[in-house]
Amino acid sequence: MNRYTVFLVLFLIFTACEKPDGDETEQAVIEEISVHTGGIQNPERLSLVESTKITNVILLIGDGTGLAQITSGQLNLVGKDGMLHIQTMPVTGIVKTHSSDNLITDSAAGATAYSCGIKTYNGAIAVTPDKKRCKTILEMAEEKGLATGLVATSSITHATPASFGAHVESRSMENEIAAQLLASGSEILLGGGMEFFASDYREDSRDLLGEFSEAGYQILSTAAELEAAEGNKLLGLFAEDGLERNNSEPLLPQMAEIAIDRLSKDEDGFFLMIEGSQIDWGGHGNDANYVLEEVRDFDQTVKAVLDFAQKDGETLVVLTADHETGGMTLTNQKEEGKAMEIYWPTDYHTATPVPLMAYGPRALEFMGWRDNTYIGVKLAELLDVGTLPSIEE
Ligand SMILES: [Zn+2]
Repeated sequence: MNRYTVFLVLFLIFTACEKPDGDETEQAVIEEISVHTGGIQNPERLSLVESTKITNVILLIGDGTGLAQITSGQLNLVGKDGMLHIQTMPVTGIVKTHSSDNLITDSAAGATAYSCGIKTYNGAIAVTPDKKRCKTILEMAEEKGLATGLVATSSITHATPASFGAHVESRSMENEIAAQLLASGSEILLGGGMEFFASDYREDSRDLLGEFSEAGYQILSTAAELEAAEGNKLLGLFAEDGLERNNSEPLLPQMAEIAIDRLSKDEDGFFLMIEGSQIDWGGHGNDANYVLEEVRDFDQTVKAVLDFAQKDGETLVVLTADHETGGMTLTNQKEEGKAMEIYWPTDYHTATPVPLMAYGPRALEFMGWRDNTYIGVKLAELLDVGTLPSIEE
C-alpha cells in the first residue's frame, strides 16, 4: 500500500462516517440516556373488555411520539424488563400519517385526520384542502348533548387541540382559534395560551376572558386554582404560550384527572382529547431528556385515564400520535447496559408510522395497520355522535 492508497482509504473511511442523508444543512445529533437498572414493579397488563356499550371516548395523542420515544421512556423509567402504563393497553395497531399534500404531516393535518376523518394540507385546522369546514367529532358530541374537553401542554389554541374545536386556514391564526373555542361550547379547556385570550395581549383588545366568564366558565391560571375549582365549565390558561414546568403550573396528569372528574358528571357521556404536546418539542430540539420528562408525564396521564376507564367500564380509550418527530433511534448500548445512545437524524417530523393502542369496549376495532383518518371516523361511529367525514357546504 503506497502513500496515495493509504490517503485514499482514510478519505473513504472518513466520508463513509459522514451523516447518511447528504443534507448539508442538518447535523445528526447523538446523545446518551441512562437506563434504569433497579428493581421492577410492573403494572398489570389490561384485559379486553367484553361489554360493547360506549358512553365516553378519551383520545390520547402523544405529539411526535413513535416507538423509540416510548421505548426510551421505558428504558429510562422502568428498565429493559419493565413496562410503562402505555404498554399495558391490550390492543395495538399502527397508523399511517401522511397528509393530503405531503408524505410528512404536521400536527394540524395530523389532528384534522383524527377530528374530522379527512386528509388535508399541512397547516390546515379542520378545513378541507379546498378550505371548507369539516365537522369535528367534538362538535358532533356537543350537538348530541355530550360534554367535551381539550387538554394540552401547549397553548390550547395550538394545532392539535385547535383542530377539534376551530376551523381556520392556517394554524398560526391562534387569536381567531381562541374565539372559535368559545363558540365550540367545549366545557373543559386546559393548557397554555393566555396571550390569545386576554385583552391586554390581543391586537384587537377583545376581552375573551370576560366572554368566557359570561358564558359560565371559571377562568384559572394556576395549579392551585385548578385544584380548588368547583365548576363544570373550566378555562385554564396556565402560561402565556406553552406550559413551562414552573411550580405554579399544573402537570398533564393533574389537568387530565380534573377534566375527567368534571366531564364524567354529564350523564350523556363525554368526549375528551388529551395531548402530550411537548414530546414533539423534545424531538424538534433533539433533546432526549426533554422527551423522557414528557413521556413520564404522559405515562402518568395514561395511568389516570386507564384507572378511570377500568372503574367506569363504558369508556373507550385510544392512544396514538399524529406523527413521529426527530427520527429518534436507539443505536448503541453504553456502559454494559446502563446507558443507551440516541441518534437524531433530523429535527423535523418523519413519515415513519406511529403506534396505536386501545383499551375498553370495542377496542379491537383499532387493531392492524390503519390510515389516520380511520381513527376519527371510527371514534365518531362508536361514540354514536354522527358520521364522519361531514363537510359543510
Ligand atoms: Zn412538531
